[in-house]
Amino acid sequence: ASGYSLLRDPRHNKGLAFTERERDTHYLRGLLPPTVLSQELQEKKLMDSLRQYQVPLQKYTALMELEERNERLFYKLLIDNVEELLPVVYTPTVGEACQKYGSIFRRPQGLYISLKEKGKILEVLRNWPEKSIHVIVVTDGERILGLGDLGCQGMGIPVGKLALYTALGGLRPSTCLPITIDVGTNNEQLLKDEFYIGLRQRRATGKEYAELLHEFMSAVKQNYGEKVVIQFEDFANHNAFELLAKYGTTHLVFNDDIQGTAAVVLAGVVAALKLIGGKLADHSFLFLGAGEAGTGIAELIALEMSKQTKSPVEETRKKIWLVDSKGLIVSSRKDSLQHFKKPWAHEHEPVNNLLDAVKAIKPTILIGSSGVGRTFTKEVIEAMASFNEKPLIMALSNPTSQSECTAEEAYTGTQGRAIFASGSPFDPFEYNGKVFVPGQSNNAYIFPGFGLGLVISGAIRVHDDMLLAASEALARQVTKENFDKGLIYPPFSKIRKISAEIAANVAAKAYELGLATRLPRPENLVKYAESCMYTPVYRTYR
Ligand code: NAP
Ligand code: MN
Repeated sequence: ASGYSLLRDPRHNKGLAFTERERDTHYLRGLLPPTVLSQELQEKKLMDSLRQYQVPLQKYTALMELEERNERLFYKLLIDNVEELLPVVYTPTVGEACQKYGSIFRRPQGLYISLKEKGKILEVLRNWPEKSIHVIVVTDGERILGLGDLGCQGMGIPVGKLALYTALGGLRPSTCLPITIDVGTNNEQLLKDEFYIGLRQRRATGKEYAELLHEFMSAVKQNYGEKVVIQFEDFANHNAFELLAKYGTTHLVFNDDIQGTAAVVLAGVVAALKLIGGKLADHSFLFLGAGEAGTGIAELIALEMSKQTKSPVEETRKKIWLVDSKGLIVSSRKDSLQHFKKPWAHEHEPVNNLLDAVKAIKPTILIGSSGVGRTFTKEVIEAMASFNEKPLIMALSNPTSQSECTAEEAYTGTQGRAIFASGSPFDPFEYNGKVFVPGQSNNAYIFPGFGLGLVISGAIRVHDDMLLAASEALARQVTKENFDKGLIYPPFSKIRKISAEIAANVAAKAYELGLATRLPRPENLVKYAESCMYTPVYRTYR
């Protein structure tokens, strides 16, 4: 290849880091200024310039441009500065990027499969330049973060998630494929926007929707085989549960909003027990929001409780209560409830708001997963503080604008007694001379390692026990030093190590369940996971 095209190939370009020798042997002489920079110096320069931007969206665009220019440098930045850059490539900034995707759109990333491609999805997959794919993240854009229907502009999410698969979980970028399925949008603003990039029609539903999805799922299996992880992301709950159930028996599918969230929150709760005391089954839970996140978390907690206490999950579910937009989910509402809410309809008189539900149930743990901001009011937080020595409060809704409460509100409303974690990051908060560091209950703790575990074991199906295995591995990584700061998650700076531990635990479970196809089983799965992880250091070209 010519030197000129080498410089324009993001997978191989090293920019000023091409050595003298490489410049000679690869026809690069004169195409670069004379200086040779190390990757470290390139990184320093880029971080300096990123930090100049005041507007988060500018950082996002600059990073995406770097990815298109020099992939390894992009990943080096992301890996070495994960705590600083995670909020840029992922929540909250990615949310804003999706909202404005039409206007920041320059070069397409990922694959777009719309109703126009019906009957041709296999061909579309074959247009993708990479043949060996290990992980697909796919969205239909209907419930992007807590921002609702962003249609085709949801593409920012699979792109961002897969960047994290590589940076945090070590999956090779070439094996990751972001996909957006465009069946239209019900977002009126987008339908009217002259720069909207998606299909300008209302969402297809019913048979039309199901057929397109089915064609997609079949084409993926036909083209990439059975061992490709398909992560469903940000589908609305009226499709998400069904897709997961329908394809869970024929494909290697994982829904991050339901299952990934569940594993990361369970890990936080289990870790928090070291601070708040008691066993899991000693606690009572109240959720605001009974959708994918809420019921997904509730189910995994009930499952873990059931394993620990050796009692049926029908029993342990009774420790968990959920509130949806109509109030507390109780048995008298059963007939009108969506199927995923039915297991949570316990005996109780109707309660129609969160505050009254908190007072009636007196939960020890309060979890927000409604997508609606400011719903953990002062009264709600104070009620939690009135009957709990150390209430655990998790405000999971993303992005930051949708958070149920801020870290400050949680700490001040409980006189500093709360253990607090949120979905989007909050800065440390000083209260009465003590600094509280809020934990971030970020799915990025789990899915990269989880996916890596599936890939390295050659797993062909996901089983709930693998989610428990992932969750356990994460909870184990919280150190005494972390707990002393009130943290219930380990710092993100250790994420590659954490991902390897999670991957090993998940893979071990896959082998145990007979779902792994990579044989023989590597003896030391942690070492094996680490050895499989992509690193972004430059290669030397001969
Ligand atoms: P979802 O499936 O649409 O569920 C939303 C739930 O909230 C529904 O049960 C809905 O009630 C309820 N709800 C909506 N408005 C409400 C209100 N004003 N009062 C009470 N309940 C209300 O969404 P999801 O996938 O679960 O996601 C929800 C939120 O969690 C999003 O903001 C998402 O970003 C966040 N999330 C965070 C994490 C994390 O932190 N790790 C992970 C996943 C998701 P109805 O059923 O009655 O409509
Ligand atoms: Mn999501």
